Amino acid sequence: PLILGIETSCDETGVGIVRGHTLLADALASSVEEHARFGGVVPEVASRAHLEAIVPTMDRALTEAGVTLADIDAIAVTSGPGLAGALLVGVAAAKGYALAAEKPVYGVNHLAAHVAVDTLEHGPLPEPAIALLVSGGHSSLLLIDDLARGVTPLGATIDDAAGEAFDKVARLLGLPFPGGPPIDREARAGDAAAIAFPRGLTAAKDLAAHRYDFSFSGLKTAVARWVEARQRAGEPVPVADVAASFQEAVCDVLTSKALAACRASGIETLVIGGGVAANSRLRAMAEQRAEKYGIRVRVPRPKLCTDNGAMVAALGSHLVAAGVAPSRLDLPADSALPLTTVSV
Ligand code: ATP
Ligand code: MG
Ligand code: FE
Repeated sequence: PLILGIETSCDETGVGIVRGHTLLADALASSVEEHARFGGVVPEVASRAHLEAIVPTMDRALTEAGVTLADIDAIAVTSGPGLAGALLVGVAAAKGYALAAEKPVYGVNHLAAHVAVDTLEHGPLPEPAIALLVSGGHSSLLLIDDLARGVTPLGATIDDAAGEAFDKVARLLGLPFPGGPPIDREARAGDAAAIAFPRGLTAAKDLAAHRYDFSFSGLKTAVARWVEARQRAGEPVPVADVAASFQEAVCDVLTSKALAACRASGIETLVIGGGVAANSRLRAMAEQRAEKYGIRVRVPRPKLCTDNGAMVAALGSHLVAAGVAPSRLDLPADSALPLTTVSV
């Protein structure tokens, strides 16, 4: 079946088209530049940008795939979680197109879509699998028994998301928003062992209560204190070393907890998704450490890790193949959609 996916949960307007696990089109319009000077996404600005971009992005995707709306078998759309006003634009558009073309519509979970997108790169996901979901707003470890029907959270961040930590640390180093890509770039020229930043919730006493949880706010504070001490002393801040040492701390915790979850459950597949999965050090470290245990790491190419329409189409395609019933035409835009609700 031919599935079209619409994504508008944050600052990217995405429309993707897939046939089975084959990606046919992935059209994207981003308002990231309009938010950059505010150091974070401004909801009203994002909603307006989606409104302007949704129809042209839809047309671009159909042209890219060489199909018409009549050829599409089902429309999938991000129902949540995300910014309420932003989600509403995508959901309203999906309903309009579905009604006009008489197509079934699937309201899907953005976070499950970050996991499902890997099927476009590596084919069907072996189940059970462990998923490490690391994005701008979320950081979780999940057990995936049946991605079409639900996921089981094993742990999550108790404060900041991993992507949020990258964004905050970039800001205090004077790097642009979003902070992940510039930190990744700076870190290549830095020494990851230069500064021993803390690894949150990895001490023996924390592991008892927080085995698969994460904490990144202490790390962010430690980086801030270190940078401030340098500045107070009138010394230059070695941006590359700070970036590399911070990134190493984040990747160390993420990979060690994800692989511990795989080993404890005897699961041999680790899939990594979300914007932070684009990080070059996370990808390399996960591969390297997993190899020792015979665990296979699946991470889609960086462009598919950050928000896009293809990921929504990929999850829609998986739901259709699994025989899941479509959503009702009054499906909600739910900014707080729980991680465990894969489709509404
Ligand atoms: P969520 O998916 O939780 O709703 P979101 O959709 O805003 O949040 P994503 O687009 O999945 O987030 O990811 C964006 C985040 O990924 C940002 O915090 C950004 O800094 C981070 N990011 C992007 N590229 C990289 C990279 N190379 N290294 C580290 N972080 C990165
Ligand atoms: Mg974005
Ligand atoms: Fe996302």
